[in-house]
Amino acid sequence: MTAKEVRQTFLNFFQEKQHLIVDSAPLIPKGDATLMFINSGMAQFKDYFLGNGIPPSTRITDTQKCLRVSGKHNDLDDVGIDTYHHTFFEMLGNWSFGDYFKQEALPWAWELLTEVYKLPKERLYVTVFEGNKEDNLPLDIESFEVWKQILGSEDRIIYGNKKDNFWEMGEVGPCGPSSEIHIDLRTDAERKKVDGKTLVNGDHPQVIEIWNNVFMEFERKANKSLVKLPSQHVDTGMGFERLVRAIEGKQSNYDTDVFTPLIKTVEAISGISYGVEEKTDIAIRVIADHIRAISFVIADGQLPSNNKQGYVVRRILRRAVRYGYTYLDLKEPFLFELVHILAEQFDDTFPELDAQKDFVARVVKEEENSFLRTLENGIKRFEEVKNRTKENLIDGQDVFELYDTFGFPDDLTDLMAREAGMKIDIEGFTKALNQQKKRSQKDASSEKSDWHEIQKDESVRVDFLGYDTLQAKAKIIRWR
Ligand code: ATP
Ligand code: MG
Ligand code: MG
Ligand code: MG
Repeated sequence: MTAKEVRQTFLNFFQEKQHLIVDSAPLIPKGDATLMFINSGMAQFKDYFLGNGIPPSTRITDTQKCLRVSGKHNDLDDVGIDTYHHTFFEMLGNWSFGDYFKQEALPWAWELLTEVYKLPKERLYVTVFEGNKEDNLPLDIESFEVWKQILGSEDRIIYGNKKDNFWEMGEVGPCGPSSEIHIDLRTDAERKKVDGKTLVNGDHPQVIEIWNNVFMEFERKANKSLVKLPSQHVDTGMGFERLVRAIEGKQSNYDTDVFTPLIKTVEAISGISYGVEEKTDIAIRVIADHIRAISFVIADGQLPSNNKQGYVVRRILRRAVRYGYTYLDLKEPFLFELVHILAEQFDDTFPELDAQKDFVARVVKEEENSFLRTLENGIKRFEEVKNRTKENLIDGQDVFELYDTFGFPDDLTDLMAREAGMKIDIEGFTKALNQQKKRSQKDASSEKSDWHEIQKDESVRVDFLGYDTLQAKAKIIRWR
């Protein structure tokens, strides 16, 4: 099965079970100030769970573009180092809004994985919430019973704690246990080495979580009590790239046809082969990963900039440029050349990229050019700083200088420091950054009063101003 077929099969499977197929929400959340980027399938349905809106169907399925580079879910440091955490990934999901529950969701998940995708049953195992006395949360006995019946024994059911197997929207609101499905993709030889022991996600790089089924069963009240929700919901999320890897029987997400077209192009541009050396492999993986995040964020309307989401794109892009520069000897813009490959790959899944590919490529190229102008000197500066640094801690002022003069985001300097076995003084950096912000605020406020003085006497001057400026000033005048 190709990646495209895997995705379509998922959607068809749930469509046959009366689910409505909906589009992915854009990566930039609308009207949700609590979230920088959409990082799960359920994010776009939050209002339905909170009772603030009515879903178009009680059963929904989709593939959601997700980004995990900030806040509670930040996988950036693992990307490229491991082979299954991405910045940008697709989360396949199915939802029940007060419709079916555990009795249906778990057997369907099993049916899809083992009968449709034909994943080997003996390599799958599941987790169930063990309960938590302190918070008065019960053991998820229903999921346990359903799994026991499906699997025919308790052998591959693992109990999980609150951290891994209990989901809460916040301190108050809907919550409930989750049940995950993991797959053991170790080779037979490796499996023999660890006799009989079932490894859990995190124990071994070839043992990975693929699907999470969350059961919104309770509501946590402000007084901390837990009450049963009047109607109960299912929210599931499966990592598409991980699923494709399992189905294609690969050792790494990057060996699947989700990533190989990008990797081949990076090989062609750099003349360096993938799979030869660990350092260059990491760089190639990072680049293949990051270009996806960059392209889809820009296609969803967020340009690189110096604040909020815009700065996140800029940081990711600069990270990719620097990996290329340092490890693949790519001294000219190259990332932009990957955009059209991606656009073609996703032409029918996320057509927004194909529709804007030239624009996205142009933005990426411009960003690359502007960073490359300071990168070489920045790297030199970093080397100097590194050589005179004592006790392996890079001074906050130096981190700030690299940021301010050479355009090095602090996480890039941090990454370079870690590569050299060092750390950065993040507090010192933040302090220097805040001081600069204060200084520029002061400048801005004095500028405003200067302008105000002129305006009072010489209102004719507005003739010289563009429309936007004129409007902004008009507002200020009225407001004052
Ligand atoms: P993990 O424990 O591997 O970090 P998670 O528990 O944080 O995953 P969930 O929040 O449960 O992940 O998300 C649902 C599914 O999305 C996961 O089971 C996994 O298949 C996939 N997923 C999560 N994070 C990533 C990522 N950074 N890259 C690719 N797939 C991911
Ligand atoms: Mg995670
Ligand atoms: Mg997990
Ligand atoms: Mg999980």
